[in-house]
Amino acid sequence: MKIALLPGDGIGAEIVAQAVKVLRALDGLDIDLQQAPVGGTAYDQTGDPLPAATLELARNADAILFGAVGDWKYDSLPREKRPEQAILGLRRELGLFANLRPALVYPELAGASSLRSEVVAGLDILILRELTGDIYFGQPRGVRRSHSGEREGFDTMVYSESEVRRVAELGFELARKRSRKLCSVDKANVLETSQLWRDVVSEIGKRYPDVALSHMYVDNAAMQLVRNPKQFDVIVTGNMFGDILSDEASMLTGSIGMLPSASLDARGKGLYEPIHGSAPDIAGKDVANPLATILSAAMMLRYTFDRPQAADRIEAAIRHVLKQGYRTPDIYEAEMRKVGTAEMGDAVVAALRGSSR
Ligand code: NAD
Repeated sequence: MKIALLPGDGIGAEIVAQAVKVLRALDGLDIDLQQAPVGGTAYDQTGDPLPAATLELARNADAILFGAVGDWKYDSLPREKRPEQAILGLRRELGLFANLRPALVYPELAGASSLRSEVVAGLDILILRELTGDIYFGQPRGVRRSHSGEREGFDTMVYSESEVRRVAELGFELARKRSRKLCSVDKANVLETSQLWRDVVSEIGKRYPDVALSHMYVDNAAMQLVRNPKQFDVIVTGNMFGDILSDEASMLTGSIGMLPSASLDARGKGLYEPIHGSAPDIAGKDVANPLATILSAAMMLRYTFDRPQAADRIEAAIRHVLKQGYRTPDIYEAEMRKVGTAEMGDAVVAALRGSSR
């Protein structure tokens, strides 16, 4: 298992270090870890947020564990030199077309959601967002003068059949690894692109008779996600709808420090990262929650390396430490045991090894 470690900026190094501890604590895995600078850290060292050597390491690895990039001190740099360009560059160069974002609510943390805890307790959904097509990339686009002389902005929503097919197939495969329910979200009542999307997804669905496929309009999906989110298992959708729905779904859980993500290419290679940023306000203070990054490592074992049992073990260890009351400050409630970043990592390792602390 060749894994490129790209910790990045801010809290990146602290949180990735905890995930590494956890990976090393799993027996029976042959792990080769190699680290490279990315983001602002890389810019400081080389003048480039995604140096050629870092990209090369990422290309040659089977998977990438990414921390986060960014800091306000780089805000005045030209856009192509800013840390955030590194993540966009990696997505583009590695063909990472599928973004997987689970939204999972541990019963112990259900109180952190802005929704009533009975609506979200035990929630476990996965949003699969297409990442490289749709209106964000369609041509032509621009601002022009209309016939009447006023300015008008325009973008092109476009999906080719093959783009829809590959993300839909992944959706069905993911549903098979979970509870065999797939909901495809579109706006087929209004948009031609969405009608094609729906037709292609339905055609592919015939090859997966064991997966229950449903379709939902995006406006209804946005409503159902807050009304009754537990009705969903896997949701597959296009780039723009997925952008919005995945942020909505992540906030159902109320805790940004708990949510992992994966971006996959056509062969299952992936970049795994927490959904949060580099949190410069708390960097270096040993208070960041490392669980989103540790859960990202679990996703890596599940989706790139096909080691579901190892992933299950990590997730069970996290449930165990939460049950024991370990909390970093972002998820702390009275009478719980407040711990720092490294101590949380150690607690997960201890739980993995089966010792109760
Ligand atoms: P952020 O996610 O870094 O932080 C938002 C808030 O959540 C902050 O108060 C932070 O302290 C807190 N937080 C985030 N992660 C946490 C964790 N693991 N544990 C505890 N608290 C946590 O977003 P921001 O402040 O808007 O952005 C900071 C920098 O991160 C910016 O430069 C932004 O561009 C960048 N960013 C990077 C990524 C990425 O690398 N993929 C994603 C989002 C933002």
